[in-house]
Amino acid sequence: MQVTQLNADRGWLDAPAAASVHRVDRALGRPLDINEAGRTWAQQMVFWQTYQRDGYPIALHPDTPSIHQLGNAIDTDDSDRAALLNEHGWVQTVYRGGVLVEPWHFEYDVSRDQHVNDPEPTAAIRRPEEDDMKIIRWNQHHTFAVGIEAIYHIPSPQELGELSALHGATIEVDNHSLTTTLLCHGLHWDAVDAVLRGAAFGSDGKYWSRLTAEGIAIRDNQNSTAKTLADVLATAKTVEKV
Ligand SMILES: [Zn+2]
Repeated sequence: MQVTQLNADRGWLDAPAAASVHRVDRALGRPLDINEAGRTWAQQMVFWQTYQRDGYPIALHPDTPSIHQLGNAIDTDDSDRAALLNEHGWVQTVYRGGVLVEPWHFEYDVSRDQHVNDPEPTAAIRRPEEDDMKIIRWNQHHTFAVGIEAIYHIPSPQELGELSALHGATIEVDNHSLTTTLLCHGLHWDAVDAVLRGAAFGSDGKYWSRLTAEGIAIRDNQNSTAKTLADVLATAKTVEKV
């Protein structure tokens, strides 16, 4: 096994499986959602002990070992993209009595990967990119790319240049027009707050994606932190001081 880090802070896999995930990212146009990839013996032991104690969720003893320990399994909220994943060699494997009981769990089988000989993606897909995003600068301080599925905080001028080439010039907004922009994209204050604090759900907290956020919210029953414009203004103040 050759431990290979995935981009966008998604953990590690064996090298061929990691290369495949990066090809899937390119096919999706955004990073594939991954809740868990490779797993150490010690982590597997914790799962095993929970299973022994609670009888759920099902887990293998670490000496078996689990396919996660071999760096060839992922757990994803993108299971509705199973057809695409299958084509790339990722297969759902956990059935009980003929019923798929863990739709989120996929294992990599290089012999089924129809894209194994595709050229390597030239650049890592860093964030979910949408065709129609707005680049906005809020109160002359914080620049964001806002779409329907995602919002990014844009920290560097270089990145701003790349995004402006894709999505057009920066639009200046004040509190009122930020509110309007969020409303018309169906985004909530907690998304803006999360990217400001670097506590969002992808690429080291630099972007918030609806898909990942909802997956995490369902799994961890997280409550949002910011409810109002006033909350976000308070966060912005804290961030600017640093
Ligand atoms: Zn799994």
